[in-house]
Amino acid sequence: MFDSLNDRLSGLFDRLSGRGVLSEKDVDEALREVRVALLEADVALPVVRQFMTRAKELATGEAIIKAVKPADQVVKIVYDGLIDMLGGEEPVPVNLNAVPPVVILMAGLQGSGKTTTSAKLALRLTKFDRKKVMMASLDTRRPAAMEQLKLLGEQTGVDVLPIVAGQSPAEITRRALQSAKLQGYDVLILDTAGRTTLDEALMAEAAEIAKISNPTETFLVADSLTGQDAVRTATAFHERLPLTGLILTRADGDGRGGAMLSMRAVTGLPIKYLGAGEKVEALDVFDARRIAGRILGQGDIVALVEKAAQELDASKAEAMARKMAKGQFDLDDLSAQLQQMKKMGGMTGIMGMLPGVQKVKKQIEESNFSDKIFDRQVAIISSMTKLERKKPDLLNASRKRRIAAGAGVDVAEINRLLKQHRQMADTFKMMSRSNGRGAMGQMAKMFGL
Ligand code: GDP
Repeated sequence: MFDSLNDRLSGLFDRLSGRGVLSEKDVDEALREVRVALLEADVALPVVRQFMTRAKELATGEAIIKAVKPADQVVKIVYDGLIDMLGGEEPVPVNLNAVPPVVILMAGLQGSGKTTTSAKLALRLTKFDRKKVMMASLDTRRPAAMEQLKLLGEQTGVDVLPIVAGQSPAEITRRALQSAKLQGYDVLILDTAGRTTLDEALMAEAAEIAKISNPTETFLVADSLTGQDAVRTATAFHERLPLTGLILTRADGDGRGGAMLSMRAVTGLPIKYLGAGEKVEALDVFDARRIAGRILGQGDIVALVEKAAQELDASKAEAMARKMAKGQFDLDDLSAQLQQMKKMGGMTGIMGMLPGVQKVKKQIEESNFSDKIFDRQVAIISSMTKLERKKPDLLNASRKRRIAAGAGVDVAEINRLLKQHRQMADTFKMMSRSNGRGAMGQMAKMFGL
């Protein structure tokens, strides 16, 4: 999987790293090449577009770290973009927190690997999570499918609900639930019937079983080698069933990887596991970082850029603290602080992170303090000249009128901002002398509370 994508991207990065300096045009061209590579790997067009918008933002935004080689920076941007596309960094295991038996419903087309995956998952939960697991096949139209699950049960040592001829899927579901309850099973895996194509009867049956069994997890099993067809299948199933996650099989095959890369963004569903072979042990927890690393094959560079970014953040924070302590907190610093605060979830978000400030937090909430104020204040500051930002004392009436027009606010708001900045600068100076005592009260005052 991902071989051709890996080849193309490695070639691109090799060429980039051969050049010391990259112009904006070079970066643009490189990103265009990444776009072509993603499209060739059969990634859905809207997903590629989303990736490009984000990558361009990162390539031109503040996140650029001067200490890192531009070529390495491009690697990191692509890496972050891939992780974004795959839905975040942390692998999310299956939810086993419901009242037992936790029901896991398995849906998918015939041949997608649904039955094999049911057994693989059962084995994982038995072996690693120490759960008592029962499986049941609901495929009443294909006796062979029921037999297959029974065999897989014997092979993995996982219990399978005994087959009773002539029962409907709904009846088997009820029997399985009761059996699992009575016999103290932790998890019940229901393997629904598959069809070769999507059809209404299949959907209606799966929806009925979901209604009866109230599953904690409903997984769609899809064959990653079928590319965008797998994405369409997932979308169709998701319209009828409350899916909670995806399992992609045949990740060991030599597909282009487009399904895996598009699935999350198109369906909004997390990929939980990857099937990686025919053996019952071949099921991996899905890990976006691992996949992105495999596609790029540039692990060292990613680690290096991450470290440089952390160092930069730390040194920025230190520089800011030194300025604050000296009372040299200018309007550029205020603007940076406001943007940082917004990133951290606004004033209420920041307060929520601090222990022992519930009272202040409540006051903020009650005062209707809107985080939109941050945006307006940043707009005001960016309407000032460089010199004005360094020396706010220069701001006389006519300058204020000019800035007000530029930022689309009235002069009174500029005056409020300047007053707030003065108070902040004074408070920071004072805080650094008193080691932060009374700081929270002062902060609240600054925001007019
Ligand atoms: P179902 O009809 O959806 O239940 O599909 P099955 O579970 O019967 O699987 C169909 C075939 O695909 C079987 O031969 C499996 O061994 C194979 N298979 C399932 N998952 C994987 C996988 O992740 N990798 C590979 N290589 N083969 C798989």
